[in-house]
Amino acid sequence: MQYAAELIFELVRVIELLVIYPVAEILSNESVFIATNLLIAVVFLHYKKRKQSKRVNWKTLKGAFLSTRIWWSKSSRIDYLSLIINSFCLASAALLIDRYLSGGAVKDSLFVSNWLESIAGPSESDLPAQTSVAVTTIIAFVVFDFFNYWYHRVLHQHPYLWRIHNRHHSATNLTPFTNFRAHPLEAILRLPVTYFASMLIAGLCSYSLGQQASEMLILGTNLFTFGVLLLGGTLVHSHIFLRFPRWLSYLIVSPAMHQVHHSCKPAHRNKNYGSNLAIWDWMFGTLYLPDSEESVLFGLSQSNRAQPSSRAFFFGKNTIKQEER
Ligand SMILES: [Zn+2]
Ligand SMILES: [Zn+2]
Repeated sequence: MQYAAELIFELVRVIELLVIYPVAEILSNESVFIATNLLIAVVFLHYKKRKQSKRVNWKTLKGAFLSTRIWWSKSSRIDYLSLIINSFCLASAALLIDRYLSGGAVKDSLFVSNWLESIAGPSESDLPAQTSVAVTTIIAFVVFDFFNYWYHRVLHQHPYLWRIHNRHHSATNLTPFTNFRAHPLEAILRLPVTYFASMLIAGLCSYSLGQQASEMLILGTNLFTFGVLLLGGTLVHSHIFLRFPRWLSYLIVSPAMHQVHHSCKPAHRNKNYGSNLAIWDWMFGTLYLPDSEESVLFGLSQSNRAQPSSRAFFFGKNTIKQEER
C-alpha cells in the first residue's frame, strides 16, 4: 500500500516536472505579447471597419477573438494536444541531454573561437563592454534568424522532412496555439540546429569582440526578437490579416505574411519562410507580399479540408507532397 502511494506521488511529480511546468512556462512567456498584440488587432479591426463605414462593436470583437467555432475546432484541439506532448518531449530531451541546460553550447564555442584564432591570428579587438553586448545582441538575432529561415526551408523542400513539417500546415484554422502545433520529431530536430547556431554565435562573438559574449535579453528573449514579437508575434497564427507598411514588410515578417505561408493556394506555396526577418525571403527569392484583398485558405490541400485525427497527426504517414498541395 505504501509502495503504491509512493509510486503515485512519484508519478504526479514527473507529470508536474515534464508537463505542467514546461506548458506553464511557455504560456507565461506568450502572455507577455498577448496584451500588445490584442491592442494592435483591435486598432486594425477599427480601421478596417471604418473603411467600410462601419463600427467595431461587441459582435465584431466576439467574432474575431472568441469564436468557439475556431477555439474548439478539431484543428485547434490538435494544437492543444501538440503543446502538451511537445512540452513533455522537449522537457524529457533536456533532462536526458544535460548539456543543453548547463550552457554546453557556450562551452563548446571555445572550439569555434580557437579555430578562428588558428586561421586568422589572435583577435585585437578591445571594445567597451556595452558596445560588445550591443554587437552580440544584433549578431545573435540575425544569425539565429538566418538558421531558422534555412531550417524551415529545408523542412519544406526535403521530402521526408516535409512529411514531418506538414503536420504544422494541416491546421485549417489558426490561433496562437498553432505556434506549438508540430510533430514531436520536428521539435526535437530543432534542438541541434539551435545548439549549433548558439555555439557559432558565442564563438564568433568572443573571438571578434575579444571577450565572453553575452546578449541583451528581456524575459529570456533576445531584445530584437522581443521587439518583433511585440509588433505581432501572437497574431502570426490568427485570422487577423494584419499587414505592415510595404517598406517594413521587406524587413520584418508581418502576421499576414506568415498566414500566406499557411495558405494552400498554388500562388502561396513555398513562400515566406522567415520567422522574424523578411530579408532572407527577399534575398533568396521566396518573399510574397500580400495585398489587402488577398484571400488565403489554411490547410494542406485545397480539395481536402478534412482535419487529421490526433492519431493520424502523430503516427500517420501523412503523405501529401508539396507539389500536390
Ligand atoms: Zn512551413
Ligand atoms: Zn506557422
